[in-house]
Amino acid sequence: RDPAAADIGRRDPIVSFEFFPPKSDAAEATLMETVTRLAPLAPDFVSVTYGAGGTTRDRTFGIVTKIQDGSGLPTASHLTCVGASREEIDDVARALWAAGIRRIVALRGDAPGGAPYQVRPDGYAYAADLVAGLRRIAPFDISVAAYPETHPSAPSADFDLDNLKRKADAGADRALTQFFFDTDAFLRFRDRAAASGITLPIVPGILPITNFARTKEFSQACGAAVPDWLEMLFEGLDETPDTRQLVAASVAVEQCRLLQTHGVEEFHFYTLNRAELTLAICRFLGIRPRRAEAVAA
Ligand code: FAD
Repeated sequence: RDPAAADIGRRDPIVSFEFFPPKSDAAEATLMETVTRLAPLAPDFVSVTYGAGGTTRDRTFGIVTKIQDGSGLPTASHLTCVGASREEIDDVARALWAAGIRRIVALRGDAPGGAPYQVRPDGYAYAADLVAGLRRIAPFDISVAAYPETHPSAPSADFDLDNLKRKADAGADRALTQFFFDTDAFLRFRDRAAASGITLPIVPGILPITNFARTKEFSQACGAAVPDWLEMLFEGLDETPDTRQLVAASVAVEQCRLLQTHGVEEFHFYTLNRAELTLAICRFLGIRPRRAEAVAA
C-alpha cells in the first residue's frame, strides 16, 4: 500500500479559487453568492482573472476589492502585461497595493483575437519581466502560470521550463498550472521542474467540467490533452445536466485524490464563478466549513 494513500483525508489540503469578472449585474450577483458559499472553506486565497488583452482592467479591479472587502478573503488580482506600457502596469499595481490587495497572479496574457504576441518596446516583454517589475513596486505575494503540457507557443518543453525558472528567479512565490486531465503529465512536469532546480511550489489547476464541448475547445486552444476516456465519460450527457454534474465531480475528485497520493497538498480550482462542483469536490477532499468556527474561537 502506498504510504501516502493512508494519509489521504488526514491533512486538510490547501485550496484557492479562481473567478472571472462578471459582465452584468446579474452575473455579479451570482459571483458574490458563489463567494459567500465558498468562503467558509477558508481558501488560502481567491483570485479574479484579467480579461484578454487587459480589457477588464477596471472591472477586475472593482470586483477584486469588492470580494476582499466583502468576504475578508485574501484576494489576488490577475494582471497581464500584454498591450500596456510598463508605466501603465506599474500604476495598476500601485493602485492595487493602495486598495489593500497584496496578491497578484502575474501573466503575459495573449494578443486579442488570437493574433501572434508582440513585445512592446515600452512594455514588460514576458511574465518574468513583469514579476521583476512588481517586486520593485511592493512586497506582493506573486503567483505565475505553469504549463504541465507546455505553453502552446513555447519553442520547446525545455525552453518553457526554463521560462518557469526565470519567473521563479525573478521572485514568484508559486506557480499555478493550466488545467490538465492527464495527471501523469503533471507529475512528469513536477519531476522535471524539481530536476532542473525549480523549488517554487507548483499548484495544480483543477477544472471541474461544467460544459464538455466548451472544455474541449478551450483545451485545444491551450494545449491540454483531452483523453479518450474523458470523452467517453461525457458522451451523450449534453441533455442531462444532473448526471453530467455528478460525473464531473467524480472526475475531479479522482484526479485530486490521485494527486494527493503523489504528495500534492494544494489545489487551485477554476470555479467558472459557480460554487456547486467546487464545494462538492472540496467536501470529498475532507475540507469542511471552518471559517465560522475560526471566527467564533
Ligand atoms: P510567459 O511566462 O511570459 O510565457 C509565454 C510564452 O512565451 C511561453 O511560450 C514562454 O515559453 C515564452 N517565452 C517566455 N520568455 C520568452 C522570451 N524571452 N523569448 C521568447 N519566448 C519567451 N490570461 C489572461 O488574459 N488573463 C488572466 O487572468 C489569465 N489568468 C491565467 C491564470 C493561470 C493560472 C494560467 C495558467 C493562465 C492564465 N492566463 C490568463 C493565460 C495566459 O495569459 C496565457 O497562457 C499566455 O499565453 C501566457 O502567459 P504567461 O504568463 O504564462 O506567459
